[in-house]
Amino acid sequence: MTLLPSDHLETCLFCKIAAGKIPSRKVYEDDQILAFHDIQPWAPVHFLMIPKRHIASMAQVGPEHEALLGRMMALAPRLALEQGCRPYPEGGFRIVTNTGAEGGQEVHHLHIHVMGGPRPWLRG
Ligand code: AMP
Ligand code: ZN
Repeated sequence: MTLLPSDHLETCLFCKIAAGKIPSRKVYEDDQILAFHDIQPWAPVHFLMIPKRHIASMAQVGPEHEALLGRMMALAPRLALEQGCRPYPEGGFRIVTNTGAEGGQEVHHLHIHVMGGPRPWLRG
């Protein structure tokens, strides 16, 4: 079940960002999705895309999330170009979603990293 941001507002960093309680450098926003710059970028372009409603990770995703995740993935290339990634194939970008402790997830609100720009990158 997807919970409203308010259910996690006390504990979840990205719910707080989605609710505007913690500031972020916004890249994009609509009724369901927020994108903002990563506070510790690995690459010249590095932003995060989150669903506004709390989903802990990809491990909680089910058929009811198909439209939302499809929308996020379809939006990512447009935002990547807008943020300065060069066009495919010379440019491009990397999309990463860390899931769970062994997947390297630190913030337990589903997020898609979108990274790009000229190399070398700090990481990744
Ligand atoms: P992950 O390890 O996949 O859970 O990634 C969490 C990401 O959130 C890291 O890349 C952090 O730099 C980023 N991050 C943590 N706090 C903030 C914040 N307040 N604003 C923007 N990005 C953040
Ligand atoms: Zn959350």
